[in-house]
Amino acid sequence: MAIRTPTRTSKPASKKKELTVDQKWATYERALIVMAHPDDAEFLAAGTIAKLCDIGMEVTLCVATSGDKGTRDVTLRRQELAAMREAETRAAAKVLGVKRCIFWGLPDGFLTADHELRGMVVKLIRQFQPDLVMTWDGFRPGFNHTDHRMIGLAVRDALFPAAHDPHYYSEFASEGIGPHRTAELILAGTNEPDFHVDIGPYLEQKAESIFCHTSQIDGRTLEGIRDGWLQIGKRDKERRKRTGYDHAESYKRIEFRRPAGAPGTPVPKKKP
Ligand SMILES: [Zn+2]
Repeated sequence: MAIRTPTRTSKPASKKKELTVDQKWATYERALIVMAHPDDAEFLAAGTIAKLCDIGMEVTLCVATSGDKGTRDVTLRRQELAAMREAETRAAAKVLGVKRCIFWGLPDGFLTADHELRGMVVKLIRQFQPDLVMTWDGFRPGFNHTDHRMIGLAVRDALFPAAHDPHYYSEFASEGIGPHRTAELILAGTNEPDFHVDIGPYLEQKAESIFCHTSQIDGRTLEGIRDGWLQIGKRDKERRKRTGYDHAESYKRIEFRRPAGAPGTPVPKKKP
């Protein structure tokens, strides 16, 4: 005898409305920016960082190398340049509202996305427990500085799966640093952006933060930097069409699942 499967009329699954990125960001507490050189964050993403701070995220910036080769001036000692660049980054961070800066001081031009660098990033993620992480797109094709690629790869590999898997870098547990799951990663300097941030309200802060990097701007004035960005916004119709904004910073955006109760999933404090 054929067994009939009882049919049941069930209500269609109620579609939960997907939150916008801004709504998700409003629930985040902390952001971590990990870059290769002292000026990367400002040139790539100062407007976005100003926005993250403005909407109430606690932002930590980590700069992996000292940037001690970032000059054409052969009379300048590398240690002197490194000290100058650290001071420039601290000044720029203040303009943007960044809570803390961390300088690893590794040699400029020699980052390697190895076990050691990945472990340093894992430790950082577990210490500061960011909801959002930003770094370079390490898979960007074509010529790009080796440090940009390496830090991008190390951060990606640190986020998945190392930072939230307690069996990776378990030695940090003795320092009281447990696993952590991040909600999302945004990759700057990408050739394949799928996410754009309107930085119109933060253009002035972006210009001011770039102006702090005296050693990198070839004598440009604050007005020159600001006008340069304003002109790009006015001239570049194609970019405006693509991003939807007069002034935008663009990223590849990746979201991670944070299953409730899984190692490293934080207990949400802000309601979506
Ligand atoms: Zn750089």
